[in-house]
This record gives sequence, structure tokens and C-alpha cells, in this order.
Amino acid sequence: MRILLIEDDLMIGDAVSVALKDHAYAVNWVKNGLAIDTLLKAEVYQAVLLDLGLPKRDGLEVLRRIRQHDDAVPVLIISARDDIKQRILALDSGADDYLIKPFDVQEMLARLRAVLRRQNGHATPLLGHELLSLDPNSREARSQGVNHLLSAREFALLRALLLRPGTILSRSELEERIYGWGEEVESNAVEVLIHGLRKKLGTEAIKNVRGAGWMVPKK
Ligand code: CA
Repeated sequence: MRILLIEDDLMIGDAVSVALKDHAYAVNWVKNGLAIDTLLKAEVYQAVLLDLGLPKRDGLEVLRRIRQHDDAVPVLIISARDDIKQRILALDSGADDYLIKPFDVQEMLARLRAVLRRQNGHATPLLGHELLSLDPNSREARSQGVNHLLSAREFALLRALLLRPGTILSRSELEERIYGWGEEVESNAVEVLIHGLRKKLGTEAIKNVRGAGWMVPKK
């Protein structure tokens, strides 16, 4: 799952990206929103974390541009502006949630999970169905009645597939959701992760569609 972080404060940006990576998100971090149009064209993001007090272009303007793209990507504001009018303005301009700095990183992660699951049409935290499910909070997958703890990357891959069972994701689409900028990706990395997941969850858990990619069957 790929997150775009727009934050000029180096300490906060660093803490947020470390926390995101620890929770198996791929993170692209930029320090201002000047390149927002190019960024949104170049890649698909599952969510944007957006500071408002940014140099060169205010965060609210960045938010407007994101929405002008007709992009449904969830936007979570992280800002020191605690004025109620600012918060209302941001939410009415298309933000999905608003966190006031300083915030607890665990709360940020929980709010992110909440907007992501709403975005994908889920109200409950569990992804999947009774044959195969994934708990995004504990990183545990459940298959055939047995729980399995997944590695960060196995989790990221299975989460990408389980957000839309029945939809095929190609190798590059999976890599995009698992790896951040500048991360070295071995050519067979996806196969190795799928192999590990099938070993834990059963060979039927993830289907290979020859020449197209992989998917989790609907049921
Ligand atoms: Ca700032």
C-alpha cells in the first residue's frame, strides 16, 4: 500500500515515515506540494498524509489540486493549525480526516487504517472472507481456521490482494504497493513472497493468472 507523505518538518516527516514503513506501507515523502500534479500522474497512492503549513504552496492549495485531479484518494491532514475554522475549511475542501500536531503516531496509524478501509468499502477492520481473512491491526492472516503471523512484506502483499478479492494485480502493481522509493527490488521478490504465503495459507489462497498476475479468489 503506497502512501504519499507531504511534510516539510524533517523530524515529524521522519517519525511518520518510519512508523508507516514499520507497518508495511510503502512511503513516498516529499517536503512540499509543488510537484503534486506530476506525483499524482506518475503513481497511484492509496492515501495522502498532508501537512498544511508547507513552503511555497499552502497545503490547502495542494488539497484543492488533489481533488481537481478527480482523485478519490483519501487525504488525512496532519497540521499544527488547530483553529476550528481551518479544520472545517480543510474537511470541506475534500480532506477525509484531520489530525492536530502534536499527535500520537499510533492514533495516526489507526485513523489511516480507518480511512483506508472506508475507501475500500469496508466498515469492519477485517479484510477478506471466512475462508481467508487478514487483520490489519495484528498482521495476522486466518486461513482454514488457523491464524498465521505474516512478515511485513507478506502482509503488504496479501493486504493489496485482499482489498479487492477477484481482481488481478500484476507484478509491478504489487511491487508498487510493497516497496518505497529507492528500495532495491529483486526481480523474483513477488514470487518469493507468494511462495511463502502459499506455504502458510495453502496453495489455493492466492491464484496465479498466467501472464497477468495474481489474485485472491472471491470465495
Ligand atoms: Ca509544516
